[in-house]
Amino acid sequence: MKNNISKKTELVANWQTLMRVFLKPEDEESKLILIKYMEQILFGLHDFLKKHVGITEEVSLKELSMRFTNTAINKNPEKKLTEVITELIEDIAPHAVNVASPYFIGHMTSAIPFFMVHLKAIVTALNQNLVKIETSKVVSILEKQVIAKIHRIIYKKNESFYKEHVQNVKTTLGCFTKDGTLANITALWVARNSLLAPTKEGFSGIEKEGIVAAYKAYGIEKCVILASRLGHFSLKKAGGILGIGNQNIIAIDVDANNRIKLGLLNKKIKEIKQTGGRIKILSVVGIAGTTETGTIDPLEEIGMLCSENRIHFHVDAAWGGPTLMSEKYKHLLNGIELADSITIDCHKQFYMPMSSGMVYFKNPLILNSIQYHANYVNRPDSVDLGIKSITGSREANSIILDCALKIMGTQGYALLVEHGIETARKFAEEIKRRSDFQLITSPELNILTYRICPANIREKLSENNFEQRQSINEKLNKINRTVQRLQREAGKSFVSRTTLSVGSGQKENIVVLRCVIMNPMTNINILRKILDEQEEIYRCYMQEGRGINQAESVPA
Ligand SMILES: *Cc1c(COP(=O)(O)O)cnc(C)c1O
Repeated sequence: MKNNISKKTELVANWQTLMRVFLKPEDEESKLILIKYMEQILFGLHDFLKKHVGITEEVSLKELSMRFTNTAINKNPEKKLTEVITELIEDIAPHAVNVASPYFIGHMTSAIPFFMVHLKAIVTALNQNLVKIETSKVVSILEKQVIAKIHRIIYKKNESFYKEHVQNVKTTLGCFTKDGTLANITALWVARNSLLAPTKEGFSGIEKEGIVAAYKAYGIEKCVILASRLGHFSLKKAGGILGIGNQNIIAIDVDANNRIKLGLLNKKIKEIKQTGGRIKILSVVGIAGTTETGTIDPLEEIGMLCSENRIHFHVDAAWGGPTLMSEKYKHLLNGIELADSITIDCHKQFYMPMSSGMVYFKNPLILNSIQYHANYVNRPDSVDLGIKSITGSREANSIILDCALKIMGTQGYALLVEHGIETARKFAEEIKRRSDFQLITSPELNILTYRICPANIREKLSENNFEQRQSINEKLNKINRTVQRLQREAGKSFVSRTTLSVGSGQKENIVVLRCVIMNPMTNINILRKILDEQEEIYRCYMQEGRGINQAESVPA
């Protein structure tokens, strides 16, 4: 320690330095310094973002993890703000993932408009807490307004409906959540409480009495949720958290277009009804943009089925929701207005910073089934938004969405949505033109999957029986896994991979490359380069004598 002191002035934590951290800069000089920091963040980071893509293996994860093993916190300050910022820009950013690159097309996280950084900074500076009006005032009111705006895009109720509800303290059209997972959980929580509501016979509701009492009061053995097998894993989490058990999230098979099989869904509902009420359907979930393939379930038909059978219809539009902004493609989501609840993520196709989700409800009173009060906050009939929310304290993401809608207009978002869909379609055509590739799922929205599978192998696959096909597919799976990994490690571009279960009879598991086209800077030329690179990697790999037949010797 003594040596350190002699080398440089030791930093100390005392009242004087503390006050400096909390107070606004008083003189011109300190103002200039703070502005310099902001510049450093905005432009220093941007320079970095232009350079790297994905996790480059220059420094391996193992090596990185060895740099982060010190678990002691210094008693005295270690660094000044300027040093910390420099370190973030020089040491952390280069080893983070450049999700903003147009060559980064693997996930639902992408570039965001530049203004989002400013809006986020303002939200931080204001530091409002939406749990109650006393810590947010007008921001709670603004939040109700922006929720009504999005509700209107989805449900298209008339002017008087929105006049009545926009600032009504007794009703709620939706709420902000931390993410899509919590939005789905909120929707299913509400569905559960509506299904197992208080009864005239004296049962005071599942929220109060718990699952055992509820099942007893209703004379049921279990509750289930039905969704296509492409449902997001947050539905399973909901099953666990809501106490119905995640094995009771029942996966319904999908058709060749990856949409839930309506016949099977109908059959399942009938089957369950025949139990004479011993099993209850908590909700049927339709997906508007599956995470893996971007496909949309037949929402209209599912909606009708649900209303005939009086089942809560939830639509998981975490991904596809903003498609409603596009006049050209909003018809893809026809039937979404039949949903009792809808999830939409802000940090996906609303291009907002991490992380923010939303859930919307058709019935403005339905959220009452999850309301909580406390004496110090959230008094009944106040505007306190925390009354009906899974989250407690939370930031004012509504400000960001509202400003973004003002800056972009629905047309701005429509352009992004349309660019994604149309570029994905061009990409699909390009994949079909190249003999080494096989398109697996065509883009309905802006997500598609394909794999390396040369034309001659495709022929073999179509001729052979199941066992032979399986063995070929296993080899192809290894090749695709390897090519995906090598491309990621090369650090120029990034596509993700997943495993899909395909085939009309016996299912085969195939590894596919998955692309999400949401960055407006991603164009067909870039996509061609990404395919070129994959072809190149594949060719080298074959030349090394590790052909399809030797593929097993390659580490996955
Ligand atoms: C992304 C996604 C979710 C979960 O959202 P998070 O924000 O990651 O929690 C749920 N459903 C679908 C269809 C999604 O694409």
